[in-house]
Amino acid sequence: MSREPRRSPVASDWIRRARDVMPGGVSSPVRAFRSVGMEPLFAARGEGARIFNEAGRGYLDYVLSWGPLILGHAAPPVVEAVARAARDGMSFGACHAREVELAERVAAWVPGVEMVRFVNSGTEATMSAVRLARAATGRDLILKFEGCYHGHADPFLVVAGSGVATLSLPDSPGVPAVTSGLTLAVPYNDLEAVDTVFAEHGSRLGAVIVEPVAGNAGLIPPREGFLEGLRERCDRAGTLLIFDEVMTGFRVARGGAQERYGVGADLVTLGKVLGAGLPVAAYAGRADLMRRVAPEGSVYQAGTLSGNPLGMAAGIAQLDELERTDPFADLERRAATLVDGILAVASARGLPACGTAAGSMWGVFFTEGPVFDFEGARRADPEFFARYYRACFERGVFFAPSAFEAGFLSTAHTDADIARTLEVVGEALDEAQDESWDARPEGAG
Ligand code: PLP
Repeated sequence: MSREPRRSPVASDWIRRARDVMPGGVSSPVRAFRSVGMEPLFAARGEGARIFNEAGRGYLDYVLSWGPLILGHAAPPVVEAVARAARDGMSFGACHAREVELAERVAAWVPGVEMVRFVNSGTEATMSAVRLARAATGRDLILKFEGCYHGHADPFLVVAGSGVATLSLPDSPGVPAVTSGLTLAVPYNDLEAVDTVFAEHGSRLGAVIVEPVAGNAGLIPPREGFLEGLRERCDRAGTLLIFDEVMTGFRVARGGAQERYGVGADLVTLGKVLGAGLPVAAYAGRADLMRRVAPEGSVYQAGTLSGNPLGMAAGIAQLDELERTDPFADLERRAATLVDGILAVASARGLPACGTAAGSMWGVFFTEGPVFDFEGARRADPEFFARYYRACFERGVFFAPSAFEAGFLSTAHTDADIARTLEVVGEALDEAQDESWDARPEGAG
């Protein structure tokens, strides 16, 4: 049996050229596929639930550009809206109607949001929300959770998830110790550890920032009472609670985690689905806080391309389609079918596995469950994951090339796609149990 991944000569040439001119050949680290020991996927186009490589091979896509594409690739209403907007001009650097329309939709959908500031990436959104929280409280310390990823700004590269975890990187060089020293980190879902931090530092703690469903250490849902517990402790100490909903927004429920779990945040960060695949993100919240942002207040934050008309048009079109079709319950049902199916396939082979779906986000760990935190997520064997991953990919199923990422589902994925995925997972698990299979072929990674 051949163990070599299919490589197209076309893609290999692009990958070689990319490595000559871009660090690791990529614009963002996890795209390099290093932790699974493979050549990266070099995409040529996407359509519905599938992404196609340069050689024209289609893969069932559960990455969906790391979350934004809840309607699948090249969803016609989004494509048409962007094309229309482009004909009116690519960027204005001036106020325009579409940004007001998208802000109004966010305020209508997301609980507690009265005002919105658009930015260009989730990193900018979380960075700006923390600046605002520090300004509003006059306190510098922030608390985050191990394995949560809030983008690559300096304060967040402390026990971070996503690519930082995938590549087993320590906290990044280049972040001054004075900056990382202002970020405290404790295990996810651990209110006792939170209490210890509040007892010692509560009066200096400006913000607690949390992924209300952790999606950057694999998918880890909040334990019952965790989010409520954070809310109570923040209220008692005068600390602001920031829900980083860049991933969970419009995914775990129409109004995000605040709606799903009935717990309110002071500030919310959004991205991914908000821009439907274009670089759009936002921070948002109560008017009394948001009015502190320049020019109404003195907290400075700006952006040449912020509120870009193409991004706004994409976001409006995607949210309007979600409004019209209301697919949330159906997406959750199908995500649960996928997770339950994978767990059943693993169990039939006597393999340990646990997993969950939260709206259209989902995740499986190949370890005894349940997993409550980053340490639990790291119990899964990375070599087994790499073998499993590669076997799935060879059979045309594209999962995130890391055990520390959530999966996503779109409205374009059909029940037949999910059934096919479960067949592939079964075959891949059979193959992954064969340890003689070298998951790191020469030359890859
Ligand atoms: N916050 C969360 C929860 C994320 O998942 C991400 C990205 O994956 C970010 C922030 C950073 O967003 P971006 O990559 O757009 O900077």
